[in-house]
Amino acid sequence: MRLNDSEMKVTSTKNPPSRRYFLKKLLSAAVGLWFWHRAINPSSALEWRLDDAGKDAHQKPPSGTGFIFHKDYLQHRLTQGHLESPKRLKTIMDRMKVSGLGKQVRPIRPLGNPLSAIHRIHSRAHVRLVMKTAREPSICFLAVAGALTAVDFVCRNQLRNAFCAIRPPGHHAANSGLRGFCFFNNIAIAARYAQSKYRLRKILIVDWDYHHGNGTEWAFYDNPSILYFSTHCLQAFPHTGFPERRGEGPGYGYNINVPLLKGAKDRDILNAFDRELLPAAERFKPELVLISAGFDSRKNDPIGNFAVTDDGFARLTALTKSIADQYAGSRIISILEGGYNPEGSAMAVERHVAELLG
Ligand SMILES: [Zn+2]
Repeated sequence: MRLNDSEMKVTSTKNPPSRRYFLKKLLSAAVGLWFWHRAINPSSALEWRLDDAGKDAHQKPPSGTGFIFHKDYLQHRLTQGHLESPKRLKTIMDRMKVSGLGKQVRPIRPLGNPLSAIHRIHSRAHVRLVMKTAREPSICFLAVAGALTAVDFVCRNQLRNAFCAIRPPGHHAANSGLRGFCFFNNIAIAARYAQSKYRLRKILIVDWDYHHGNGTEWAFYDNPSILYFSTHCLQAFPHTGFPERRGEGPGYGYNINVPLLKGAKDRDILNAFDRELLPAAERFKPELVLISAGFDSRKNDPIGNFAVTDDGFARLTALTKSIADQYAGSRIISILEGGYNPEGSAMAVERHVAELLG
């Protein structure tokens, strides 16, 4: 860079540079650094505004249901003809339009760079594995960003609750390889993010997917600040989720597995919620409720073998809402997991979102 005359004059003089000159240089370096930071980390502006937002998370939230979606979620593909396909989300989006619910929710696009939040759950080796294995790793990051954006909106009291129509799903993801169509554990990362960003002490995760969320259990097994409750089928992948697995150390009692038999109906899963979840939630008093909303527990799923109806999902949502209403200022973030009958899942999502709106 060519120096102009006045700068030449300052630097070439025998007198020491003035204090004002140093201050000017320092200020310009600070401004440069800020722009550089913004350029490499687009979420920093949002986080900067959120620095003080923790206190807001404990106030009464306003109404409104967010709907997190990005068209790139439709670009994520596993193998040809795989059931975890873009059609799942496409059908949900069509259903939102046809039902008119799309006009009632607040559409939200994912924001920010989730890498630092991902590292709170996943190892660097796991992140490298995702980068190497996924056809479009950026969409795996975008799924996490969707869940974190929902946390930001709900914990900043801009929405009462939110549904994240995201792919790929996450509740099987730990640090031991890629399994169950999952890459990053969206819900576990969201829970940690909510705790660190908004200073929430107690978060309840409700998982009604047909499969046990072994990754989520792993993430919080010794952690008493996260109550994990799961209904699932033990005969299905990943064959974990035995009721004896109740947590360890300080986390003992904060991991609740309620396996159900194949063919489980509305009354079976609702009984499990009534009998096991409600009293545990009453003791725990969560400040935020997250849902691993898997719809492969719905009837007519090609992978799942339960028979939960759309009305059943509406009632599960209402029960979970009653917990959030009582203890968590109504804050719920629901994150899509499985569900492989696109039309069926879309109808269940419709009832779920309608209940969140109600
Ligand atoms: Zn599943």
